[in-house]
Amino acid sequence: MPAMADTLTSLVGMDLTELQAAVTACGGKPFQAKQLAQWLYAKRELNFDAMTNLSKDLRAKLAENFALLTSRVIAGEESGEGTTKLGIRLHDGMVIETVLMREDERVTACISTQAGCAMGCRFCASGQLGLKRHLTAGEILEQFLHLSELMRTQDATPDWLTNVVVMGMGEPLHNFDNLLKALTILNAEWGFHFGARRVTVSTVGLPQRIRDLAEQGFQFNLAISLHGVDDASRSALIPTNAGLEKILAAAKYYFEQTRREVTFEYTLVGGKNDDAESAHKLADLVKDFPRANVNLIPMNPVEGSGLETPATESVNTFAEILRNAGVNVHVRRRRGRRVQAACGQLRLKLEAVSG
Ligand code: SF4
Repeated sequence: MPAMADTLTSLVGMDLTELQAAVTACGGKPFQAKQLAQWLYAKRELNFDAMTNLSKDLRAKLAENFALLTSRVIAGEESGEGTTKLGIRLHDGMVIETVLMREDERVTACISTQAGCAMGCRFCASGQLGLKRHLTAGEILEQFLHLSELMRTQDATPDWLTNVVVMGMGEPLHNFDNLLKALTILNAEWGFHFGARRVTVSTVGLPQRIRDLAEQGFQFNLAISLHGVDDASRSALIPTNAGLEKILAAAKYYFEQTRREVTFEYTLVGGKNDDAESAHKLADLVKDFPRANVNLIPMNPVEGSGLETPATESVNTFAEILRNAGVNVHVRRRRGRRVQAACGQLRLKLEAVSG
């Protein structure tokens, strides 16, 4: 049974310096911080007793003073399409969702960075909740440990994640410092050692934060949600729209600094932004962008949003117009609808069972 406590500080989310302080406070030697990091992150071990290269005494002291997890899985739901959604309850009762998607050799985790979200996108269930709070770096990383446990029970190959998308509940760049710390530990050789190029950070477009991320020296992929072709149509769906011009300039800067392709996400909403004129305007906006990629996401039904899913015909026409303009376009399959795990649908329906 993994160690889990509401009141103890968790070791998960600590960087090497912090782990060193924890280890030495418990009577260990500074070099043992790396051994502990390996158990926590590379081996994803949730039992102090299994950390056999640490002395019994050190393990006991660590267990006495620190938790391994501060959150726990309260529900799991499978769609039968290779998608599993976990409801995770945080120490203060907040519930977030984490999604695992298997598709052939690709296993992708979709993780949350906030409980709720402040951006208020009209097509998004998380946006309707408002922001409850930011997740700590530890709470962001604990999602990987819960997924690791899930994958162990699945007994399938690959037996670990191949990709990570930071696309769950919350606006990642709004929780910038905690996100950065979590991704640093995810990527670090002493941490999870997960390649930055296999991680995609998805943002609604906070221009200054995109620039800040570009300057951190990482090679994360960036996905920017556009959803509108001018500020009027964009603001109708994203009330916190920072302005297309600024967002596109920040996206170019990200590409220049990191040489990583930027993907533009465009949620197609029936009768709102799925017409041919919008498709031509979108092509104009992105066609000069270095290696422009557009993901079209037919809107999934969200109760109470008053917005409609687009007709298949308009999705196809929209994609065709972009393709003809030389834009690299993908239409995202509606995976996970049955568990309401599709983009914009991570919703605290589990609040009811969390008490
Ligand atoms: S789509 Fe993303 S940024 Fe917008 S409200 Fe939902 S979680 Fe927040």
